[in-house]
Amino acid sequence: MIASVTLPRTIEMGGGAIKQLPQMVKNLAASRVLIVTDPTMVQLGYVDTLQSILHNADIHADVYSDTIPEPTSSSIDALVEAARQDDFDCLVALGGGSAIDSAKAASILLAFGGKMRDYKVPRMVNESGIPLIAVPTTAGTGSEVTRFTVITDDETDEKMLCVGLSFAPVAAIVDYELTLSVPARITADTGIDALTHAIEAYVSKKATPFSDYHALEAMRLLAPNLRRVFHDGRDVAAREAMMQGATLAGLAFSNASVALVHGMSRPIGAFFHVPHGLSNAMLLPTITAFSVEAAEHRYADCARAMAVASDDDSDSLACQQLVDELVKLNQELGVPTLAEFGVSASHFDQVLDTMIDQAIASGSPANNPRVPSPQQMAALYQQLWT
Ligand code: NAD
Repeated sequence: MIASVTLPRTIEMGGGAIKQLPQMVKNLAASRVLIVTDPTMVQLGYVDTLQSILHNADIHADVYSDTIPEPTSSSIDALVEAARQDDFDCLVALGGGSAIDSAKAASILLAFGGKMRDYKVPRMVNESGIPLIAVPTTAGTGSEVTRFTVITDDETDEKMLCVGLSFAPVAAIVDYELTLSVPARITADTGIDALTHAIEAYVSKKATPFSDYHALEAMRLLAPNLRRVFHDGRDVAAREAMMQGATLAGLAFSNASVALVHGMSRPIGAFFHVPHGLSNAMLLPTITAFSVEAAEHRYADCARAMAVASDDDSDSLACQQLVDELVKLNQELGVPTLAEFGVSASHFDQVLDTMIDQAIASGSPANNPRVPSPQQMAALYQQLWT
């Protein structure tokens, strides 16, 4: 079996790693940087810090700080237009998955033009855009190491998955100190997102020994630390473990793909503006319960890596313990139901068929160990209301 592996050229990990940024830029022979970020990063002072680190190393650095959570095609067009005002030879994405995905999209549109929908799956996008250094500030998406970007098409409300080497950052700086300011709700949502990446990569039909290794290690880091960071955001050791775990989970799913949870989650995000990690969290227990029968041994491994089952437990008991744990985790982290989030049931029913079509078209459900029929997928969506 041949396993294809995509990785950034270099990753700097650890507290204070951000200081390595100027050297990374120089290693790319770049000198005109655009920092792509959001208003929160400006308010928190992170943008000033980054700009002074670069200026002190005689590197020109401008800032675009209008990226939005869950980026859309029009938010990307605005970024590209602003970036065209100068001759930037390097993008530095600073923020959560939204800022990083925005910069990935801009990198390719700046180099090759067109609209984001031209680059969505099933097209594989492998051209080299403007080099991108990703600096995540959430322990969640793993976007700093993945070959994906996710952009919502404003005209169709489709959360488009775009895939290929073009979207893998050239370099990443994974500095957990930047996550100490993440509020509890976002800490929970992004942390469950990372855990979902690790589980889905491990049970994916496209899993390889490379992705398995990273997925299991990610689960070992994420599972015992997620509740800790939710209850105490200043728990430095837990924050560091979560950041490492999220990046390892990113390496795993970038190379093994995600599966049914993500496939069904993107349409919920697109239609009802549920943050990505939260819609994953809403689905994770239900989809895991549906899927375990098709890959009991793999899910049992997940339960053991997460330390909710022991080696002595049978696979079927371990699977039950995994599902129970995911339900309890959602309760403890205050994950709302669709109704509690404020989604209208009639609007949900109205777009249900479109959500199913979009989920299937993304290709992710086909990677799941148990692939639902459209009718089964409708029933799974409906279970989120009970
Ligand atoms: P996000 O980037 O949307 O950020 C959520 C909020 O948290 C924002 O308001 C942001 O300003 C704030 N925030 C971020 N870091 C902070 C910090 N250190 N302190 C205080 N506030 C902070 O959230 P996310 O979950 O990281 O990213 C979600 C996006 O990533 C979605 O669009 C999703 O589709 C995408 N995604 C991409 C991939 C990929 O591989 N490309 C994988 C999973 C998800």
